Amino acid sequence: MLNDADLERYARQVIMPHVGEDGQEKLLGAKVLVVGAGGLGAPVIFYLAAAGIGHITIIDDDMVSRTDLNRQIIYREEDVGRAKAQLAAQAAQAINPDIQISHFITRLTKGNVENLVTAHDVVVDCSDNAATRYLLGDSAHQYERTLVFGGAVRMEGQLAVFQSSVAGHAGTACYRCVFPSMPDAKQAPGCSEAGILGPVTGIVGSLQALETVKLCMGHDSGLTGSLLLIEAGQTDFMKIATAPRNDCSCCGDQQAAG
Ligand SMILES: [Zn+2]
Repeated sequence: MLNDADLERYARQVIMPHVGEDGQEKLLGAKVLVVGAGGLGAPVIFYLAAAGIGHITIIDDDMVSRTDLNRQIIYREEDVGRAKAQLAAQAAQAINPDIQISHFITRLTKGNVENLVTAHDVVVDCSDNAATRYLLGDSAHQYERTLVFGGAVRMEGQLAVFQSSVAGHAGTACYRCVFPSMPDAKQAPGCSEAGILGPVTGIVGSLQALETVKLCMGHDSGLTGSLLLIEAGQTDFMKIATAPRNDCSCCGDQQAAG
């Protein structure tokens, strides 16, 4: 049951038929893991806290640099040199003191990924490196969790929801079906080499937050089995269908047989 404070705080979304009191209760009961508190993580963390996701865990091992401030809008000039995960948790708690926020100042590794992923309903990939992305993609499939993937570099963004082993969506593409092999740094340069415009991460992160909120209410995402490509130079959004691959090393037949 929502109390009076909840009904006031969440009034503008509870009034909507898409949410209602039932949807808000689901949001308050949801557990979301946010991996990375950078350009994508900033809007994700802000919006999830504001919407009343009841349990948010933030993991990031990085400290704030001055070069982050063009896009990582959760941080201030005086935050340079301090741990992002802790600052992000404080900022989210300041927006919404009624939810539980945990943070870990560490990297996602093979050693901690199982405990972290299985303790949450939805995992949001806001990381900035291929090793973490593949680890998360494989783990989300293995532990039957929903993965909300986002990426942004230069003027381009990507977004997808992976539910390859989640009831009702089993057999849809996993992360590795769509991105079969880990690119090297030359093929897929990161923001530090290629650059990034802040609002592009804002768009992708905001869409990741939107899909997460819908999924936490039990709604379909609209991006399961799809990849959304954003080209910000021409303001072009294109949604393409993704297909599972039989030879996928994560979810394919060979994997199941072996
Ligand atoms: Zn696959």
